[in-house]
Amino acid sequence: MRVAGDTIAAIATPPGQGGIAIVRLSGPEALSIVGRLFSTADPDAALEPRRVHVGRLLERPGGAPVDQVLVFAMPGPRSYTGEDVVEVQCHGGSVVSRRVLESLLASGARAAEPGEFTKRAFLNGRLDLAQAEAVADLIAARSEAGIRLAWSQLDGHLSDRIGELRGTILNARALCEAAIDFPDEDIPELSDGRLAAELARVRAGVEALIAGFERTRRRYEGARAVLVGKPNAGKSSLLNALAGYERAIVTPVAGTTRDVIEVPLTLGGAPVLLADAAGLHAAGDPVERVGVARTRAAVGDAGCAIAVLDCSRPLDDDDRMVASAITGRAVVVALNKSDLAPTVTVHAVREFLAVQADLARAQIVEVSALAGTGIDALAAAIAGALLQGAGGDEDEVAIYRVRHRDAARRAAADLTRAGTALASAAPLELVASDLAAAAAALAAITGEITSEDVLDRVFAEFCIGK
Ligand code: GDP
Repeated sequence: MRVAGDTIAAIATPPGQGGIAIVRLSGPEALSIVGRLFSTADPDAALEPRRVHVGRLLERPGGAPVDQVLVFAMPGPRSYTGEDVVEVQCHGGSVVSRRVLESLLASGARAAEPGEFTKRAFLNGRLDLAQAEAVADLIAARSEAGIRLAWSQLDGHLSDRIGELRGTILNARALCEAAIDFPDEDIPELSDGRLAAELARVRAGVEALIAGFERTRRRYEGARAVLVGKPNAGKSSLLNALAGYERAIVTPVAGTTRDVIEVPLTLGGAPVLLADAAGLHAAGDPVERVGVARTRAAVGDAGCAIAVLDCSRPLDDDDRMVASAITGRAVVVALNKSDLAPTVTVHAVREFLAVQADLARAQIVEVSALAGTGIDALAAAIAGALLQGAGGDEDEVAIYRVRHRDAARRAAADLTRAGTALASAAPLELVASDLAAAAAALAAITGEITSEDVLDRVFAEFCIGK
C-alpha cells in the first residue's frame, strides 16, 4: 500500500538551543522543494542520494540565505517513510531551525502532524503497527530495561510471535472450513483431537502474553515504591534524600487518581516511581481516614513498600497501622533519624515486626534523611526488593501496551469460545467464526487489520518530526 501523500516537513530535534537541528521532509516533492532552496558551490552536484551536501538554504528560490546547512537525501522506497526523504541539518537555534522550516513550508511543504513520518512508514509497509509503537516507546524509554523492551519489539519479536499464533489459528480455521465444505471426508486433525490440542496451545500462548503484561509494563515504566509511615517519621525528607541520590531529576507529578506525590528516579540502574503517601494515623479524623485509604491504595499498586519508622520516638499504634498497611508487599524498613538519640533499636523493630509473619524478614536500614547517612544502602535495599517482586525472563517476548493486552484478551476469549464449541461438537461454522475473530484480534496488534481511529490514537502519542 502506497500513500500518494503530500510532502510534509517538521523540525525533528527537540525545541531549544543545541549544536545542530534537523529539519526533515518526506513526500513526492521533498527533493524538488529542497533542490529549489539549496544553493551550493557545485551546482552540478544536485542532490545526489545518500551523500551529504554542504551549502546554504535560501528563504525562497534566489532569495537571501537562512543558514548554512548539510543536506542528505534518501529517495524512497528505501527510506524511513518509504517516500523520498530529505534531512536538512542547520544550526541548532530555535529561531534558525524555525526559519528553515518556514522556508520549506513556503516552498510547498506542509507542517507534519505528530507521528506523521512514522505513520507513513506504517502505511507504506516499512514497519508494522507494533514496530511503529516501539519507535515511540524507544524515544520515551527512561531506562535500560525500557530500551531493551522497545528494541525487541522494534526488531519484530512480538510481531513474529503474533504472526505464529495467528498463523496457527488461521490453519485451524481452514481445517474447519474444509470439513464444512466436504462433510463426507474425514479430517484426521478434527477427529483425533489434534486440532483441539493445537487450539489449547495457542490459547496458552496468548494467555502467557497477557499474564506477563503487568510485570513487563512495570519493567518498561519503572516499578512503584511507596513510602509509608506515621506523620513526621520523615517520609518527605527521605523522598528528597533518595531523589538527590544519583541526581535524579525531581519533577513531582501529582498522582492521577489520588493525592500521592510520585517522583521518577533511578535506583540501582532501574527506573522507579517513588511515591510519598499521606501519613498514616491510627486515631484519624475523617480527613486522615481518607489519607489511610489512599495509602492503602498506593501500597496496593506498588512493587515495594518502604516503612518509615522514627527511631527517636517509641513505636506506637500508628506504627502498628503502618505495619498492617504494608502486608503482602516486598518491604524495606527505613529506621530514620539515626542522628538522634535512639529510643528504638533495630532489635526492637525486628521484634515489633515479627508479629506479622511476612514482615519478619524485611530488611531494616538505619538512615538519617537529615544527615544523609544510610541513603545509598536504603536505595540498594529498595532496588533489591523491587527486583525480587518483578521476576520474569528478560528475553521473553512480552507485551506492555494496554492496546496490545486488550487485543490479546479479545483473542483469548474468542479462542476459549472456539475450544468450547469444538469440545461440545457444536456446528463447525461457530468454531470457524470464533477462530476468525481471534485471528482478527491478534492482527490488530500488528496492524494488518486496523481502523483509522486506532491509527489516529496510536500516532497522536508521537512527537512532531517522528
Ligand atoms: P513526614 O511527615 O513523614 O513526611 O516527615 P517530614 O519529612 O516532613 O519530617 C518531619 C520532621 O522530621 C521534619 O522537621 C524533619 O526535618 C525531621 N526529620 C526528617 N528526617 C530526619 C532525620 O533523619 N533526622 C532528624 N533529626 N530529623 C529529621
